[in-house]
Amino acid sequence: MAKTFRGNEYLGIRIPTIFTEADARRCAGCGGHIDERPFRVSIMDIVSTESPVWADQQPRLNPGPHQFHDNPACVRAWMARHGYLACRHSGIREIMRPVAIPGDPPRLGLCDGLHRDAHEFVPA
Ligand SMILES: [Zn+2]
Ligand SMILES: [Zn+2]
Repeated sequence: MAKTFRGNEYLGIRIPTIFTEADARRCAGCGGHIDERPFRVSIMDIVSTESPVWADQQPRLNPGPHQFHDNPACVRAWMARHGYLACRHSGIREIMRPVAIPGDPPRLGLCDGLHRDAHEFVPA
């Protein structure tokens, strides 16, 4: 019997998933490989229909989950690259709510929605 197992077949049985994909875990923020448990962020669907006029003009949103290092800086880097604003009262959590911000072009702010006072959006 071979000492090392390098194929995707063992004793004539195909085992297509025995090797994990090397690039399966890339941080969406810094692009680095994630060794530890990834921190996943999902963006909730926009349920508010308060602004139907420009709802169609909102930037396309990938709800995720997006994978990051367990580091808020990675999530903020990703937000900044996509032009999302961050609420100053919000932490980085696994579920973020998108808040449409009217303007030209309209932008999206992300907030965990756990505070009661008004949002304060700043560049991530
Ligand atoms: Zn990262
Ligand atoms: Zn907020």
